[in-house]
Amino acid sequence: MKTYLRVPFAEKDEAKRLGARWDPAKKLWYVQNVPNLAAFERWLPAQGDLVEAAAKPAPAVRTKAAQVQTGPRYFELHCDCQPWVGCAACGPVVEARGWRAPA
Ligand SMILES: [Zn+2]
Repeated sequence: MKTYLRVPFAEKDEAKRLGARWDPAKKLWYVQNVPNLAAFERWLPAQGDLVEAAAKPAPAVRTKAAQVQTGPRYFELHCDCQPWVGCAACGPVVEARGWRAPA
């Protein structure tokens, strides 16, 4: 397992002396299969530094299709009838909201 290190340029020789190797593709120093990272501790990236992008959960997707579209005159009708049929109980309520009763 590779452990990448944040080695300042001024300390690269010391890191190399301790066994760190250079990854030219990533442009980072690393150590591989080191049982004890104590000697490299000061160069270890902070928790969540290099792994941040991979560990971050994807943001919740908010699509237009997931939203309930309502008009400005929308309201909840708490009645068991079909709102487009209407009944004696909710008819007046619906009309009071500006909706015309079915002809
Ligand atoms: Zn009703």
